[in-house]
Amino acid sequence: MKADILTIFPGFFQGPLDHGITRRACEMGLAKIEVHDLRQFTHDKHRTVDDRPFGGGEGMVLKPEPIFDCLEPLQLAPREQRSAGAAKESVILLSAQGPRFTQQVAAELAALEHIVLVCGRYEGVDERVADFLADRELSIGDYVLSGGELGAAVIIEAVMRLLPGAVGNEASTRQESFTGHEQTTRAEPDAADSTCGSGGLLDYPHYTRPADFRGMAVPEVLLNGDHQEIRRWRRQQALEKTLRNRPDLLEGVKLSDEDAKILARIKRDRD
Ligand code: SAH
Repeated sequence: MKADILTIFPGFFQGPLDHGITRRACEMGLAKIEVHDLRQFTHDKHRTVDDRPFGGGEGMVLKPEPIFDCLEPLQLAPREQRSAGAAKESVILLSAQGPRFTQQVAAELAALEHIVLVCGRYEGVDERVADFLADRELSIGDYVLSGGELGAAVIIEAVMRLLPGAVGNEASTRQESFTGHEQTTRAEPDAADSTCGSGGLLDYPHYTRPADFRGMAVPEVLLNGDHQEIRRWRRQQALEKTLRNRPDLLEGVKLSDEDAKILARIKRDRD
């Protein structure tokens, strides 16, 4: 996968992308990330990337020209083809006004060959970038940041770890929080397998050595080697934590009969 980042602060990315799985994906040749300095696509001696808003109001707005000019040499397919899915490419504008970036969107993006991330600053980006250049806007959450750079780093990290081969143990990315049912469930769970996919819920809790840390003991069930019992316990924990922290997720998933029973029991015990 190729990822291009358009920003007025290229130095921002020295660091965040140089660690862990993102770095490994690049070193293994699974991904190539290029950061473009929008100031290099200005034509005045002050390298102006922003200007005052038409109609008045606070602050400055990122000008459209440097963004359009920077994108041109990247040789993307025409926007209509990209939007129709005929090209495995997407131009993304980071924006607090976009639909929220989720694990599902990360999986969609991981299937593409080329993504371009446009980072806004100031009061935002001239709307013609959203209207005529970008294929989609994405927000990383319901809060306002000062720029799109952190958002671009978040998207890159979430996407790159889904590239086949990027994570040593691929099964682990299939089982994580938010990861959809179809990707995680097997027809017949293996009796020797004590793990369970999240099926769109939150992940179950994880523990490691020591079994007793300053008097805080690991749940007994994890130490007894009964894989089926461990799997049931983990599922119950995942359901419990989802109910407590993110009940909204329960509405979007298909629960098995056993899940529904566990959930009913948790609710009963709680009330
Ligand atoms: N006036 C805008 C905020 C501009 S913040 C508003 O109220 O919606 C400046 C830039 O930061 C934006 O152009 C966008 O690129 C980035 N940004 C801010 N919050 C973001 C978020 N939640 N997700 C993604 N990008 C964000």
